[in-house]
Amino acid sequence: MKLVRCPNCGFVCKRNGKTNAGSQRWYCNQCSCSFTNKVNKTNNNLQIFLDWLFGKHTQLDMAGDGRSFRRKTSQFWELWPLPPKVESSSSVVFVDGIYLARNACILICCNETHVLGWYVCRYEHSKAWEVLLRRISPPTVVVSDGGTGFQKALKKFG
Ligand SMILES: [Zn+2]
Repeated sequence: MKLVRCPNCGFVCKRNGKTNAGSQRWYCNQCSCSFTNKVNKTNNNLQIFLDWLFGKHTQLDMAGDGRSFRRKTSQFWELWPLPPKVESSSSVVFVDGIYLARNACILICCNETHVLGWYVCRYEHSKAWEVLLRRISPPTVVVSDGGTGFQKALKKFG
């Protein structure tokens, strides 16, 4: 069995009855404190979410035909991952804007092997391209389909 340690002093604790709600209560002989061990499943659930996100399973394959999965992982959809700043310069980068929906466009910049950055906006425009390009070290060549506002944004970077 896993040893339960005191949150104050780290001393190994003993069982000390149950609370009215039925949770195990623990008692520390060292500092005479009593506590219950709250289980935090956030780490576990994040791992489940990431395994699904980068895996091959559909939501339907998950526990409870996906319902349990969605309940456990709903909070992680709110996470907004920020692309890191790219300091090392690529010789060639490719940029494109892809419309995910009517009012949601994602601008993506990548080199031959990796996605370097992305920016989500309502539509392609020069300011949005600027925000994306500002985070990426200037390349020698940029390949673009001439998306709206890209030319204007590029002028600012010489
Ligand atoms: Zn203690």
